[in-house]
Amino acid sequence: MGATVKTLPRKGASLKERLYLIEIVKGMATTFGHFFRNLLDNRRLYVRHYPEVQPEIPVRWRGRHRLTTHEDGTVKCVACFMCQTNCPANCIQITAGERLDGRTEKMPVKFTIDLLECIYCGYCVEACPLDAIRMDTGIFSVTGDKRSSFVLELSDLLATKGAFAEEDYKKGGA
Ligand code: SF4
Ligand code: SF4
Repeated sequence: MGATVKTLPRKGASLKERLYLIEIVKGMATTFGHFFRNLLDNRRLYVRHYPEVQPEIPVRWRGRHRLTTHEDGTVKCVACFMCQTNCPANCIQITAGERLDGRTEKMPVKFTIDLLECIYCGYCVEACPLDAIRMDTGIFSVTGDKRSSFVLELSDLLATKGAFAEEDYKKGGA
């Protein structure tokens, strides 16, 4: 026995629905409501007035890298390659050289980080046994017009300072 098919008459949209006029007017009223409210007082805007207003960077946030130094300004890094070995993006390249100041045997003579490859995972910071590499610069905007602008050299890494007080960084558990 075949199934009984019940055909329902198509209801269709009413004239009011087909015109969309009321919905368009309601939509425009919302748009202009926001427009004039923000024009008169923009304190409630959900956007940040960047770059005039910079975002607050929390201490645990991973920004552009830097290499830390001893109090006398010499590099802490001993070229142990732990960060390079642990980097999942393979974007750290270190060349070790002999250290002549007697602190350790080795130091980096070349240390580059390719920011175009970096995934900002922070493994390099975690892997470093000497707290020699950090991502506490608070730098979130890195711009350049050529590929080489995004490759940090040893001098760049040493020249950048941390954005936080030492006790805040330590307290932040980074
Ligand atoms: S943050 Fe991650 S990807 Fe970037 S250099 Fe460090 S280990 Fe490599
Ligand atoms: S930054 Fe740290 S982990 Fe990387 S080579 Fe230097 S001492 Fe080793």
